[in-house]
Amino acid sequence: MEKLLQVEKLETVFTKDKQKIKVLHGVNFYIRRGEVLGLVGESGSGKSITSLSIMKLFKGTSGEISNGKIQFNNEDLATKSEAEMRKIRGKQMAMIFQEPMTSLNPVMKIGEQLLEPIRLHLGFKEKQAKDHAITILKKVGIPRAEEIMNEFPHQLSGGMRQRIMIAMAISCSPQLLIADEPTTALDVTIQAQILDLMKQLKQEENMSVLMITHDLGVVAEMCDRVVVMYAGKVVEEADVFELFESPKHPYTKGLIGSVPKLGQKKDKLDSIKGNVPDPSSLPKGCKFAPRCDVAMPICFVDEPQEIRLENNRACSCWLYNEERRDTCV
Ligand code: SF4
Ligand code: MG
Repeated sequence: MEKLLQVEKLETVFTKDKQKIKVLHGVNFYIRRGEVLGLVGESGSGKSITSLSIMKLFKGTSGEISNGKIQFNNEDLATKSEAEMRKIRGKQMAMIFQEPMTSLNPVMKIGEQLLEPIRLHLGFKEKQAKDHAITILKKVGIPRAEEIMNEFPHQLSGGMRQRIMIAMAISCSPQLLIADEPTTALDVTIQAQILDLMKQLKQEENMSVLMITHDLGVVAEMCDRVVVMYAGKVVEEADVFELFESPKHPYTKGLIGSVPKLGQKKDKLDSIKGNVPDPSSLPKGCKFAPRCDVAMPICFVDEPQEIRLENNRACSCWLYNEERRDTCV
């Protein structure tokens, strides 16, 4: 399958008190056409910043891309202006967020919000735009679509609002849908319905999906491949089955070990000790070393680079570097 998006050596910085703080440290990954890629890690690992960087949605923040490429349809988004990005966002790539209330306008009727991108990107006139909006609402399983067009977001349930968000995101048939924790705020039954809807739409539209989540259940259910992030870097990349079957990176092992298994008592759960480090004071060497049970002397001195492994896998950990593994420093 052809690559739709390729992120290469992506670095993003934020400025605080005139100091630049790097939050992404050379992020590399790709998404093929029609593929669902999971981006996982604890909160603070850089997942959301990665997605905002791809969309270049830094408005109201000091964030900027300081290095690297974002190849999308063979064009580098990193060099695009805001005006150019506005034509791409909503049309070629769209995003859905965890809490639809923050992205839906509370004082605008659903219909008006839905019609905006349709008019802008598809150039449809009134009747045609309205028909298209109603078709999309029906597609995402909204009953009484015509009536809902005249309602406000607060009149709808959380699950319905998330369907509206998805409707807005897919209204112009984007090639890439970025979903940032799309079901975290929903209860389990609604969560399952939204995931089913996303799967169905992905099939019908042949969209690529970047699924950002800290929920490994969602990953297992939805994703083809997975990228694991820690402290602003990709630490492991693998096919979803391989990742669960034989995780390589100690951080991935920790994440998978902390998921309760059926029949397992809760007090027996492993969880990773410590916290994700603050981007302004990262440890030397491997960023995971202070939390890693199998850290070696070299881990506290030098940062491991990405090593390609068999089956199209990759891992950034000294354990997989034959030459340096036993180096005592
Ligand atoms: Fe642990 Fe060392 Fe691998 Fe980092 S490089 S994850 S500290 S073993
Ligand atoms: Mg996040």
